[in-house]
Amino acid sequence: MAEELDPFKISQQQLDSAAEVMELDKTAHEILREPMRTISATIPVKMADGSTEVFQGFRVQYNDARGPGKGGIRFHPKENLNTVKALSAWMTWKCSLANIPYGGAKGGVICNTKNMNQAELENLSRGYIRALGRFIGPKLDVPAPDVYTNPQIMAWMMDEYSKLVGHNEFGVITGKPIEVWGSEGRFDSTAMGGMYVLREAAKQRKLKIKDARIAIQGFGNAGKFAFDLSRKLGARVVAISDSSGGVYSEKGLDYDKLSKAKAESGEIQDYSEKGMEKISNSELLELDVDVLIPAAIENQITKDNADKINADIVLELANGPVTPAADGILFEKDILDLPDFLVNSGGVIVSYFEWVQNTQNYYWTQDEVYSKLDSIITKSFHDVFAMQEAYKAKKKKISPRTSAYVVAVDRVSKAMKTRGWY
Ligand code: NAD
Repeated sequence: MAEELDPFKISQQQLDSAAEVMELDKTAHEILREPMRTISATIPVKMADGSTEVFQGFRVQYNDARGPGKGGIRFHPKENLNTVKALSAWMTWKCSLANIPYGGAKGGVICNTKNMNQAELENLSRGYIRALGRFIGPKLDVPAPDVYTNPQIMAWMMDEYSKLVGHNEFGVITGKPIEVWGSEGRFDSTAMGGMYVLREAAKQRKLKIKDARIAIQGFGNAGKFAFDLSRKLGARVVAISDSSGGVYSEKGLDYDKLSKAKAESGEIQDYSEKGMEKISNSELLELDVDVLIPAAIENQITKDNADKINADIVLELANGPVTPAADGILFEKDILDLPDFLVNSGGVIVSYFEWVQNTQNYYWTQDEVYSKLDSIITKSFHDVFAMQEAYKAKKKKISPRTSAYVVAVDRVSKAMKTRGWY
């Protein structure tokens, strides 16, 4: 039977597994299997040639029992409602696991940013807010950047929203540039959070980060900073890729040279030097390394290749890179697969700090931000493994992902119960 690869169905399967082991109340389960609210909009945008193109945009608010919605906006040619729904569910579990006062949401627009100039991109960003602005707000739902959106886009969106409400509202969106009250430390916060999780996991596996060999899939915001921070911790990044393929070097890759080459030519494989080989994305995933960091897109480790994964630790920096079937296979192989909504929660945790700072109009240094991030994400890591141990004591073996789900779903269901929703 073909494996289910629809991200929303996957998110539901993951919830169902957790619901079963934690004996979740039937009504709570029913509420949590579907988004609370799904909004779809058409967005007419003036293009450079004078024509008007109509784009389709979404905002899904999955659950707000613990606080306003929170989640990024993706601009992607293959964006679709089910992906946005899945991502909004994962945001709900991510914010709950981090124990920050948000629910979960996500947005997206079907578009190809590579074919758009800056003015068109600005028109689309402002159009998204004109279409969906009345459904978001600092106390309602707080967007942020995601794949193919960036701080500049957040600044345009914040500006458009401020016009809509008639006053500056910096706290409506996070991931903004520093000039309009973004937070210090936001740019590399996802990878930084991932590194704190890796530090804790390495202790558990008795791995010295300084001796670690790491392979990273993806060279965007998440993957590139993971590369930079890994080498700063003294680890050796032996392989990295982008959508066109990857490169491998046993002696370790040079971050500065590869970043420069990527910025100039756009493709990692255009750079070569002695001792470096070209590899495909699937070869990268199967390398014999200490740590594998999927930092690109979903469904990369499936039932077809999970058995061939050779890493000791899989650090899921991307959203949804491992399917449920693969999750079980990795667990059986004793590979420590750390779930996405723990590993990549650094981005939303620092987004939360940005929103807190915008609300208080009082701003923190980068060191303050990193140290607060470290405390929150390290606590989440230990919450997950404490839950796993609690189940072990009851003679039940659960994977780190199921354990993380149990922690997160328990908090959301208790909030709903206390509010009287069921
Ligand atoms: P990005 O657009 O900056 O980079 C994506 C990277 O993946 C690019 O290098 C691209 O070439 C590569 N890629 C695309 N398709 C690929 C394929 N088929 N095989 C291999 N590589 C491919 O995006 P990002 O912000 O780095 O996000 C990457 C992942 O991390 C996504 O799943 C995103 O949801 C997740 N994430 C990002 C953040 C953040 O703060 N940026 C936060 C949480 C989660």
